[in-house]
Amino acid sequence: MTAPVFRLIPATKNYPWGKQGRSSLAAQLAEGAGIPNFQIDESKHYAEMWMGTHPNAPTRVLSTGQLLSEHLASHPELVGESVIKRFSLQNGQIPFLFKVLSFDEALPVQVHPDKQTAQRIHSEKPNSYADPNHKPEMALALSDFGALCGFLPTFQVAVYLSAVPEFASLLPNDIVEHFKSVARSPDESECKAALRDLFSSYVRVDNKKASAQLKHLVERYQAGKETDAEKQVKPLVLRLHEMYPEDNGVFCAFIMNHFELKPGNAFSVAAGEPHAYITGDIIECMATSDNTIAVAFSPPEERDVDNFLSCVQFNPTRGKTFIQPTMVTRGSTHTNGSLIYNPAIDELAVMQVIVEKGRTEAHHKLKGPSIAVAIEGEGTVVWADGANRLGMKKGQVMFIATGTEVKFSAFETSFKLYRAFVEVL
Ligand SMILES: [Zn+2]
Repeated sequence: MTAPVFRLIPATKNYPWGKQGRSSLAAQLAEGAGIPNFQIDESKHYAEMWMGTHPNAPTRVLSTGQLLSEHLASHPELVGESVIKRFSLQNGQIPFLFKVLSFDEALPVQVHPDKQTAQRIHSEKPNSYADPNHKPEMALALSDFGALCGFLPTFQVAVYLSAVPEFASLLPNDIVEHFKSVARSPDESECKAALRDLFSSYVRVDNKKASAQLKHLVERYQAGKETDAEKQVKPLVLRLHEMYPEDNGVFCAFIMNHFELKPGNAFSVAAGEPHAYITGDIIECMATSDNTIAVAFSPPEERDVDNFLSCVQFNPTRGKTFIQPTMVTRGSTHTNGSLIYNPAIDELAVMQVIVEKGRTEAHHKLKGPSIAVAIEGEGTVVWADGANRLGMKKGQVMFIATGTEVKFSAFETSFKLYRAFVEVL
């Protein structure tokens, strides 16, 4: 019988927005993970570490070097029949993709398709959209984490259209005037339609025109000539401009909600919800898919305005509800114990496990497979009533089969890990 708990070799992704060299948490974890021949290159930007079965950066089994998906295809009992059936899994796939992201420049302004749209864009552009699957995701902050997500209330966008001539002048006058006239309407569908018109013409603005207006705007802000209505948004505009000095995406500051999350805060992103993560180290977990439709903060050839507009949901909102973690065992966000972040996404949930020095955290059997990654310190994972154990330290990644009771113990130092899982009850 094959072991229910075993070590994995994750994979890294380099993108220009990732933190550089050793300053990247993704690089630090990859260094500890046991990836063959991996050495941190200080000139490279390490954006992501992936753990899962997605072919774009597949995880392997440490002891054999075999792809995790191949190993699971020959041992489907590790995933479990109910999970395989529920998600129609094939070829040793698991339903979720687990990542650590580390970035100090904004990721592309993006949306993810729902299942139906994913199937369409995958068949039309298989090279850009590798999967016929949707990609709802959850982001969990490990550090301070800045993000743009969702559209601002229309009245707030109207305030900016009046206060920021550099923004308003990018857009056709009739669209701006109509928007302002309906922005406070109680008729939600009228507001949504006006937002659709405004945003659709904004994303098609000629980049030269946008960067010229951006230059004027930044010069005005740097000269301290912002109006009261712009005081709050000014730091965000300057920060985005520093990252992308000529990108029309900087004007998203006047259209999208801005959030500053603290470690332990988490939110989920639904199909069609526009977002761009700005800076931070985060855990990200999503349905297994790599379908990202970008419209700004990315090279022109990687933008897809038409598909972005066909996917994006024009739902203006005042804010976003963070996911309230629930306790599995005694503890809190910062002390010994296990917390579950369980978003409204069938394919995934993530547990944060903190084991203080000299303590043990016991997890009952989960009804689905899981992947755990050590983020800080070291300890052991024990299973089969103590008969088997493996050491685990920063960066090391474990697969834990469905129906396996495990205990995490810390000895000399405290031990912090995240465990992504799916359950079919
Ligand atoms: Zn995303």
